[in-house]
Amino acid sequence: MKAAVLHDYDPSLKRDTWVRYEDVAEPKIEKPNEVIVRIGGAGVCRTDLHIVEGLWRERVNVKLPYIMGHENAGWVEEVGKGVESVKKGDPVICHPLITRGLSLEARRGNDMHDPDSMFPGINCNGGYAELLKTVERALIKLPTTLAPKDVAPHADAGITAYHAARKAAANLRPGDYCAVIGVGGLGHIGIQVLAALCAAEIIAIDRSELALGLARECGAHHVVKADGNEVEAVKAITKGLGAHAVIDFVGEAGTPAKGWEMTRNAGTYYVVGYGGKIEIPTMDFIVSEKSIVGNLVGNYSDLVELMELAHRGRVKLATQPYKLSDANTALHDLHHGRVKGRAVLIP
Ligand code: ZN
Repeated sequence: MKAAVLHDYDPSLKRDTWVRYEDVAEPKIEKPNEVIVRIGGAGVCRTDLHIVEGLWRERVNVKLPYIMGHENAGWVEEVGKGVESVKKGDPVICHPLITRGLSLEARRGNDMHDPDSMFPGINCNGGYAELLKTVERALIKLPTTLAPKDVAPHADAGITAYHAARKAAANLRPGDYCAVIGVGGLGHIGIQVLAALCAAEIIAIDRSELALGLARECGAHHVVKADGNEVEAVKAITKGLGAHAVIDFVGEAGTPAKGWEMTRNAGTYYVVGYGGKIEIPTMDFIVSEKSIVGNLVGNYSDLVELMELAHRGRVKLATQPYKLSDANTALHDLHHGRVKGRAVLIP
């Protein structure tokens, strides 16, 4: 089969070519619970650029060459002997993790914290290819309203935004305020999820006017330009008290301090984006009774619920298609901010 294969890291991200479009061996069913999916679309994520840079090298033990791509959807191609819930030809989206489901964490629904899991596209071969191997447990059948290439990025970008927004929405009452920092690939989904799940007033914060326009289309009630005075702006909207929930899709470049600051007492600051640091005096914690909650991708049930919202048209995803053979162009376009919405590779 054809695949876009990573052979070398490029720490400075300067090279023209990061992956090689070439013939590789097809994945083979080895265990009864395995499924081969014919890829209909594979989302291109900023994490893929971090992989090319070599940032993930020490976190995960992967040997090059290998195939990136952790946002995958397509059609079932072949199933192992024990697979009963899907058959050849079924359209599916892949939860990004491969788990057996036998750990206590997995049984409690915390797929992300299953100690026996694998993550295709991160620590084993992913979906920048014609075929991907995963397991029955990772698959969600798609309704006829959703084409694999149109929803593939939900397998990571969407599920991550949903996971955080769902947690926030569970604690937000009508009249409460929720601030969303960063209206990019994840943030614009987070706003739509909040609008669908709760009746809080949504305040979107971003540096770009374009992003703030998108935020309004997605259901934000207030928009705040991140010009250095965003904490004051949020305080002004919230009668001086701050937002009950703040979801930070940036997590660096000063947003953690500001996100904490614009959270009201007894409220919660949800961290999704990463790269920065949180430094808060312990006394501030006890006086304010604020909480900080981390968010990592999402559970299988999160992706099921998100597909329900997508099916009903409550969450829309902007995608930009590329041929799999143009993977380098897609990666470079992402790197240079030329992708509107999410790039999707189509074999
Ligand atoms: Zn991703």
